[in-house]
Amino acid sequence: MAGDPRLPSVDQSDGLEARLASVRGSVADAARAAGRSVDELTLVVVTKYHPASLVRELAALGVTDVGENRHQEAQAKAAELADLGLTWHFIGQLQSKKARQARRYADVVQSLDRASVVDAFAPTEAEPDPRVLDGFVQVNLTDDPGRGGVAPEGVDALVERVLATGTLRLRGVMAVAPLDGEPRAAFARLRAISDRVRSIEPGATDISAGMSGDHAEAVAEGATHLRIGTAITGKRPDAP
Ligand SMILES: *Cc1c(COP(=O)(O)O)cnc(C)c1O
Repeated sequence: MAGDPRLPSVDQSDGLEARLASVRGSVADAARAAGRSVDELTLVVVTKYHPASLVRELAALGVTDVGENRHQEAQAKAAELADLGLTWHFIGQLQSKKARQARRYADVVQSLDRASVVDAFAPTEAEPDPRVLDGFVQVNLTDDPGRGGVAPEGVDALVERVLATGTLRLRGVMAVAPLDGEPRAAFARLRAISDRVRSIEPGATDISAGMSGDHAEAVAEGATHLRIGTAITGKRPDAP
């Protein structure tokens, strides 16, 4: 992407480039320690609450995948930055109405956690031929049902529902490690759930796990997608 005239030149002094390089280095170290290749890993930079200009700087530094968790904000940024050809991952909780709108700009929806949200991606009479998106079933690894994600015992039924839409390509499972407890143990549980999902849909091999503070543990437990925000972007502005 170097020299692309659509992209701004990056101010080296802002530290973004250094932080991105440092995270990439630490991901590579984790892959090496786990005997895995970095080529198996997709880095999704979480840009929620940050301005579109930051996403443009990240693209100039070679970032191809970004994650957003609020519909209105994601929609506006994706429209403003359409020239960059980025892959937009939706990682936040959705309601069915927002989901129907998100499918117009998102490429990947990582937060499929309820039948009503899954069904919102299915064809309707008004939209018989919607875009096909990649999807992850989000699993709740905590005991708190208020957190995002379907309970582990509900995963199989939701997977069947995703497959039935015909408009979601199931890529695998996604989770956030609980705040209390060992992230590695939580990611090991997610890996076991991923094995079960693959017995239903052999193509659903991906595991989205690992954030700024626990990406090494996630890589050790087979993550294919890392969702990293603050370690790269710096402190997030407050939620708008
Ligand atoms: C905000 C967010 C992240 C990124 O978290 P950091 O700690 O900033 O890396 C990852 N996943 C989800 C679902 C998020 O909402």
